[in-house]
Amino acid sequence: MPVPSRKTFTEGPLVGSETNLDTGRQKLSVLGDSSSVPLAVRGLPAAKEAHRLQSLFLVRILHFIERSGDSGAVYEGRKSMDTILVTGGAGFIGSNFVRYWLCGPSTTREERARNTSRTNRRLINLDKLTYAGNLDSLGELLEDPRHVFVQGDIGDGPLVLELLQEHRPQAIINFAAESHVDRSIDGPAEFVQTNVVGTFRLLEAAREYWSGLPAPERERFRFIHISTDEVYGSLGPEGKFHEWTPYAPNSPYAASKAAGDHFARAYWKTYGLPVIITHASNNYGPYQFPEKLLPLMILNCLEGKPLPVYGDGQNVRDWLHVEDHCRAIELVLLRGQPGETYNIGGDCERRNIEVVEAICDIVDRLCPELPHRPCRSLITFVADRPGHDRRYALDSTKMHQLGWYPQIDFAEGLEDTVRWYIANRQWVERVTSGKYRRERLGLGKSAATS
Ligand code: NAD
Repeated sequence: MPVPSRKTFTEGPLVGSETNLDTGRQKLSVLGDSSSVPLAVRGLPAAKEAHRLQSLFLVRILHFIERSGDSGAVYEGRKSMDTILVTGGAGFIGSNFVRYWLCGPSTTREERARNTSRTNRRLINLDKLTYAGNLDSLGELLEDPRHVFVQGDIGDGPLVLELLQEHRPQAIINFAAESHVDRSIDGPAEFVQTNVVGTFRLLEAAREYWSGLPAPERERFRFIHISTDEVYGSLGPEGKFHEWTPYAPNSPYAASKAAGDHFARAYWKTYGLPVIITHASNNYGPYQFPEKLLPLMILNCLEGKPLPVYGDGQNVRDWLHVEDHCRAIELVLLRGQPGETYNIGGDCERRNIEVVEAICDIVDRLCPELPHRPCRSLITFVADRPGHDRRYALDSTKMHQLGWYPQIDFAEGLEDTVRWYIANRQWVERVTSGKYRRERLGLGKSAATS
């Protein structure tokens, strides 16, 4: 594919948007010739494939220019980020992001299965290594001199400050969290500790470091806080969450994430710390700890174990491939506006039962030797999760305006994910060799003892 000049890229349509953090209302401004504005922005029927290619093209250009060593002024006048501090980089999304940051985007399914290209970037990875964080998920990157892994807690202010002052990153991306709703029902205290107190202490350390930076570096610094669609609560059959939808968290997990978000927002409003908050929908892909829906169902299918579907299975989630999420975060980091929030949805709503059935069918096809086929016969409806949100869906218009669209088709991404778990049983064995054995969590039974 011919690579257009930087001029072509920077002269493309400039679509700006601002979210007023008080009202949450979004203001859209289109600069220049509106005929060059992407179709979706003009409200015309979205040409999905064109958006996919546009989005892919944008990422490839950014990486091409960066690799050619001429990254200045590419991102609307801002340089690319060279060194960043990532927290929670041994977890599911974090480890995928570490790989993405150091290796760059993949364009084919084969590349996605084994991405070996390299970027000129550095990354400091701070992770407490809870049950959900595993060094195995980082593999060969642990030996990579561009990657500095530090085991530690985001709530350890002096440690965070020391890391910031030693490595002088241009951004922090906060993935670290307790992330499993069922665990938050059984034992919410840990969620408050990491997602609220930990986030607060991380913000404090970031503020101290940032306020001591020379003006140009202070201007360039970003604190990206990774949040979830769950802070918005539950939807009925219609509508989507916007960035201005009021928070209405229903689980201790969602409430703790919401509280962390409020601190992040307050640090922007009060101190001017350049915070950006992202709300993503349900992620799927490789390296997800097997307590979450997709890996649990895949592994139980492979082993002929019951497939526990909560309630009537009609709860709807919006599925986003983790690599699409990583691309979105990169774009927010490089082109997002401080003080803004961005919804990152997969535009792929599915009922839980549909997803489970799809996994069953893929496993049946890929593993014809399994004696317990068809896997659909393993589906078992179990007691619903207390306070189970019915439906999530995100309006991602603001991300589209930055040039991002999800690229990975759900059927393809799901099959790749099943293949990954089949090929990586050793990883599964290692990460579940501790306390967790795929038992049912989240009925609140262990709250008193945790
Ligand atoms: P995960 O549970 O797989 O990983 C969390 C990581 O954080 C682990 O490596 C863990 O060791 C680390 N960690 C936990 N407490 C820590 C602490 N106090 N200090 C340092 N490290 C700590 O979670 P995930 O699914 O990768 O989610 C990452 C982020 O994305 C979370 O903030 C989550 O709320 C958000 N998110 C997740 C999804 C999803 O579908 N998984 C969707 C939207 C948003």
